[in-house]
Amino acid sequence: MRILILGGTEEASQLAIKASAISGIEVITSLAGRTIEPKKIATRSRIGGFGGACGLVKYLQDNKIDRLIDATHPFATQISHNAAIAAKVCHLPHLILTRRPWQPTKSDRWIEVSDLKAAADILPTVAQRVFLTIGRQELATFTHLKDLWFLMRMIDHPQIDAAIPNGKVILQKGPFSLVEEEQLLIKYQIEAIVSKNSGGEATYAKILAARALNLPVIMVQRPLLATGKSVSDVESALNWISH
Ligand code: NAP
Repeated sequence: MRILILGGTEEASQLAIKASAISGIEVITSLAGRTIEPKKIATRSRIGGFGGACGLVKYLQDNKIDRLIDATHPFATQISHNAAIAAKVCHLPHLILTRRPWQPTKSDRWIEVSDLKAAADILPTVAQRVFLTIGRQELATFTHLKDLWFLMRMIDHPQIDAAIPNGKVILQKGPFSLVEEEQLLIKYQIEAIVSKNSGGEATYAKILAARALNLPVIMVQRPLLATGKSVSDVESALNWISH
């Protein structure tokens, strides 16, 4: 059985390793190519877009894929939408593996918003010094907020011609510890965090640090999930493969 895993997440990497260890299963992992030096992939892999849903259909057919697993980032809606369409067109079993969103506790000060634009709209009423942890692709949403100062963390530097909000860019890759995150927030006198509700352990320490320091978190809620069967952990995805 040949499985295509649409990856880019830690869960996708773990699933690829475990699934390819099952006898009779070959895994191909596909990455968007968003990070310059992605983590080494343990299975056969490919990098870059397919050319929309039609391109994905062609890839699935040309490579005789038997099952499709969409283990992409919860905010990567376009590829998930394309995957749902392509699986339907090719009559392929299709599974979505997406980690559970974080949930606020009584000690958290979350302001939940529907998207990044809503986060930018509310931000001036919340804080002046902001920790922006949304990656490098959508920084332009915040560039008009000239009176605010942003600490922006990402894996790779923004493109040379990218619009960058007022502030400082730091390049770091998770996982991050609670102590590190608290020190960062204190060092830069951060008053609020903007985060997508990505879920998972690797970047959760910033949420814990905000809780410990009693800082508000502008939490961008997840976009709607693509249609299809969905699981939230690697073991459940392995069960689906086995059955
Ligand atoms: P997207 O908007 O869903 O995808 C845009 C296009 O990128 C897709 O249409 C597809 O191109 C290509 N693509 C995406 N994932 C792919 C994969 N695994 N294999 C092959 N092609 C893929 O996703 P995005 O632009 O990557 O990111 C959107 C949001 O997700 C952002 O908020 C970003 O911060 C977040 N995110 C993404 C990743 C990631 O690894 N992709 C990781 C962390 C966070 P074609 O139409 O040409 O096939």
